[in-house]
Formats: sequence, structure tokens, C-alpha cells
Amino acid sequence: MIIILKSGATEEQIQHVIERVESHGMSAHLSRGTHRTIIGVVGEKSQLQPARFQAIAGVADVILVMPSYKLASLDAHPEPSIVDVGGVKIGGGNLAMIAGPCAIESAERMDAIAKSVRASGANILRGGAFKPRTSPYAYQGMGEEGLKILRETGDRHGMPVVTEVMDPRRVEMVEHYTDMIQIGARNMQNFVLLTEVGSTKKPVLLKRGMSATVVDLLMSAEYILSQGNPNVVLCERGVKSFDPATRNLFDVAAVPLCKGLSHLPIIVDPSHATGRPDLIPPCALAGVAAGADGVHIEVHNCPEDAMSDGPQALLPEQYEKLAAQIRDLAALFGKTIGYARKKS
Ligand code: PEP
Ligand code: MN
Repeated sequence: MIIILKSGATEEQIQHVIERVESHGMSAHLSRGTHRTIIGVVGEKSQLQPARFQAIAGVADVILVMPSYKLASLDAHPEPSIVDVGGVKIGGGNLAMIAGPCAIESAERMDAIAKSVRASGANILRGGAFKPRTSPYAYQGMGEEGLKILRETGDRHGMPVVTEVMDPRRVEMVEHYTDMIQIGARNMQNFVLLTEVGSTKKPVLLKRGMSATVVDLLMSAEYILSQGNPNVVLCERGVKSFDPATRNLFDVAAVPLCKGLSHLPIIVDPSHATGRPDLIPPCALAGVAAGADGVHIEVHNCPEDAMSDGPQALLPEQYEKLAAQIRDLAALFGKTIGYARKKS
């Protein structure tokens, strides 16, 4: 950490900063320039709390040299992490093709959608049983009954499953049925929930909050990692923008940006990022070309009947076409798409 003093900082103020640094068990290295004086601070990472020093009179700025997301950072783990989701690997050259409806609606519908996306090449099945809806009057999901349907459908078609948890009190239940726990965009900074899923060993799909920076996303991943769960996959799903033409703004640059900062796999979700079936295929391909470790897409066999996110759902035949293009692109980039075995 580097503390930059104001140009008019007095000798007394400089000495006070040094005393404060030393009182936290760290060492201070003073360097006086012609215009500015700086203090280099070396010591235990947990004591390096910039706000504490920023508040001292005479201090102009405090700069962290090491990122605060120490477990998520490349410094901690220079090789890309590979997360195993029920036998399907994500990251380190392994591409996830996650597909399924926004919400689990019935066993029959789930089966039909799973069958079609699996035949098209998807390797992980998604579906929400607990839906985070803006309106309390909107469809909230099937709850535990939906989780059972998801589990059975995934097993029948040889697909590990991912589903969202919103409530820390339901983590145990969701963990029981799923291969991967999704933390939705609206809960990216629900720190109690992050701590709870961090204390499981289940892979976590951590979606970027709609107003969160990439560093915010990595700090949220840090909550999970610091609890002892190393199985975190990041997901870029669009951020708020001023333009209502798309549901969110797909931040494709976040993919290589995260890769330059963190060893964690990152996938893209062009469905929620754009909200438009015509934009999903090009954005999915752009995500893979940008280095994403997976593509997460909502598919429904009758979007007009869908209980949530119907307008952005791809039809099975649209997904089939896109999946073939994703596979071609994956081959071009030397990525592997693995499949789980069917459970008997
Ligand atoms: C979803 O995956 O259905 C969902 C609600 O996503 P997000 O949290 O990204 O909005
Ligand atoms: Mn959705």
C-alpha cells in the first residue's frame, strides 16, 4: 500500500501517519520527493485497510498495490481454475454450454426442452425454481417441486443442473438437488448468501450485478472463496445502460478483463444481457471469441406460454443452429466441450 501525502502536509502529520502505520504492526518507508512525500507500507494484508489511512489529516490518497480480492486474483493462482460441475468441466480450455428455460414450469415441458438442448449439444441444464421477480405478483417459481423435476430431468438426459438460490435459509435444500448453485445478479452482493454458499463445496455460478463493477464481482467471489469453496464461475450478464433498446448492456470486454485479473472461469449470458432473441446468437459468439469459458442461454419450446422471460427465449431450433456455431468457434479456439454420463 502507498500513502501519498498532501503537498502541504506538515512534519507533525507525516510523523502521525508513520505512528499509525506502525501501531498496526506494519512498517513505513518514507520517501520525500521535491513536490510530494509518499509512505510505502509493508505488512500483514488484513491490516491494509485504505479507508483507515485515507481519513488521517494530511493524506491525499491511498493506493493498494495488491488487489483486495487476493484469493480470486491471478497472483494467488496463476493457472486458470477448472470447476467440475457434475462431471462437466468449466475453464482451462473447457467450454460450458448451459441451456434451459428461465423457470421450471412442469415435468413435461422440462423434459422436452432438456431433450432438445441436449441433442443440440448443451452439457448443463438450467431452470429456476425460485425466481427473483421485480413484482411480488409475478410468477415466483415452483419451489422444491421444481427442484425435484430439474434433478430428475437432468439425470434422465445426462446433464448436470444449475439453479438459483435467493434465500440463505434455502441453501441446504437447493444444494441437495443441484450440481451448481446460481447466485443471481440481484443477489451478487447479498453477503450473507455468499457466505452461506461459500460454506458448501458446490460449484457456484456467480452472476455479475446489473450495476456492479468487475472488481465488485471479484470481491463477491472472494466472499465465497474465503469461506473455503474454491468452485466459483463468474458470469457476465449485462449491466444497466441508458438505452432501452436492449434489456441490459452486454459488457463483452468484462471477459478478457476478468481473465487478466483472475484465475476464475467466466461465462457469458447473452439472454439476460440483451433480452432479445435476434441479438443472443451474435453476442454468444462474441463472448466465446472474447475468451469466455461458457455460454448460458435460455431456451423455451413455447415462449408465448413461458412463466418468465418468454420474450428473450430462443426456440429449440434457434438454439440448435447457434449451438453448432458455438461448437465451430470453440474448435477454432481449441476448446473442449465435455459431457457427463447418463445416470441409470
Ligand atoms: C436467470 O438466470 O433467470 C436470472 C434471473 O438471471 P439474472 O440474475 O442474471 O437476472
Ligand atoms: Mn431468466
